[in-house]
Amino acid sequence: MSQTYDLVVLGAGPGGYTAAFRAADLGLKVALVERYPALGGVCLNVGCIPSKALLHTAQIIDEAAAMASHGVQFGDPRIELDKLRAYKDGVVNKMAGGLSALAKRRSIEVVQGVGAFTGPHEISVRQVGETRTLDFAHAIIAVGSQSMELSGLPWGDPRLMDSTAALQLDDIPPRLLVIGGGIIGLEMACVYAALGSRVTVVELSGQLMPGADPDLVKPLQSRIARRYEHIYLATRVTQVDVADEALVARFEGPGAPASAPFDGVLVAVGRTPNGKSVGAQAAGVAVSDQGFIAVDRQMRSNVQHIFAIGDVVGQPMLAHKASHEGKVAAEVIAGKKSFFDARVIPSVAYTDPEVAWVGLTETEARKSGVACEVSHFPWAASGRAVAIDRTEGFTKLLFDSSTRRLVGAGIVGPHAGDLISECALAIEMGCNAADVGLTIHPHPTLSESIAMAAEVFEGTITDLYIPRKRG
Ligand code: NAD
Repeated sequence: MSQTYDLVVLGAGPGGYTAAFRAADLGLKVALVERYPALGGVCLNVGCIPSKALLHTAQIIDEAAAMASHGVQFGDPRIELDKLRAYKDGVVNKMAGGLSALAKRRSIEVVQGVGAFTGPHEISVRQVGETRTLDFAHAIIAVGSQSMELSGLPWGDPRLMDSTAALQLDDIPPRLLVIGGGIIGLEMACVYAALGSRVTVVELSGQLMPGADPDLVKPLQSRIARRYEHIYLATRVTQVDVADEALVARFEGPGAPASAPFDGVLVAVGRTPNGKSVGAQAAGVAVSDQGFIAVDRQMRSNVQHIFAIGDVVGQPMLAHKASHEGKVAAEVIAGKKSFFDARVIPSVAYTDPEVAWVGLTETEARKSGVACEVSHFPWAASGRAVAIDRTEGFTKLLFDSSTRRLVGAGIVGPHAGDLISECALAIEMGCNAADVGLTIHPHPTLSESIAMAAEVFEGTITDLYIPRKRG
């Protein structure tokens, strides 16, 4: 039986829309199902993009204040929240409009509604007032993830927010509690602190951003420790009670107070995959207890013609992983021999300073016993970092001891997120320390710190004095 669509993509986030676009470019007839009116998913509408618009504002506010010590005084910022919100919404709308136009140019049918499998070759889409059935030869499940809720908290009270609510920017709570010192918690803390909130961060584990090497997080932690009210590590929030004037949080952990009042509480304790919400059993697709869908290196689920990509297939839950996987799935469906064979996936926290890492971390290397050598270049020796008064940063590279190839990198400092791409490329290309160190980097840039960290490994560095290594 011939199906109406060669491919139906369920979910229009960065994974889903990329897969749909690539498949259409390869000649497939594609429908893209999305529950919300705008394309772009969490990343574009209530995640990466609006948060970056607000982080940019935060950065300007902080930099303007920092100019005082350089002899340039600005007045205190006057925040017009409605205008700021409108700017952020404008950014999102511009990008979402662009995606709709790109879908239209490719003759992709965008179907708005909540989709679920009703059979191995059938998805029904619940729309306002009607249900539409789409039949397909192939499907890609790209339904993403949602914020994890902490149980027992007064959800429904507008002062208790998940990341979506926090990005709505309804008001600036004078006292903000951030539960979860991961990437979302720390990025939003950065925004609200710059806008005037007195921020407290509570993190369950013994370290902020537990996936990153501790030394990489340290410059961020030192900076925010000076700016935020409190940072409590190894601490849990056991309860949040609603009082008239405040939400009162109760804590458990060494050094934490028994309780404290807040005007707003943001919960950012991780995300959970949406695999259980797509009627997968009707198509025979296996979903784990946690909601993940297992796939092979071609993004194929246990059902031959059904694929899955993005947050729903596992960690790391990152947009750039999802879009890469989306291309692989689309190409495989179109008959190409594509595989997900990326060696590394970079991680970036767009905090101030930014924290970025790729490949093997020092912590992982130690745990797994991989023989590698770590070389550091402190930004205090970078002319550019000194010029912009941000010498707290550093670049570190991990080289395989026997092959001298780059196997991991970590950067902390302004623009670390942009700088880390060079390291990802170097790892993908199998570059060794000489390749990186002998590549001429423009002076004076922060990117030089990558070449210089390689020179530290090689013993050829002249911008530092390391007697042990000269030669
Ligand atoms: P996360 O897993 O990065 O961090 C959650 C943090 O909350 C962890 O450090 C965890 O130890 C802590 N935690 C868990 N339970 C807690 C509790 N009861 N009390 C206090 N702390 C608790 O999750 P996230 O920050 O919510 O981000 C979710 C996902 O979205 C991640 O996969 C992240 O990589 C991704 N994301 C990426 C970016 C980016 O690339 N810049 C931005 C936002 C989100």
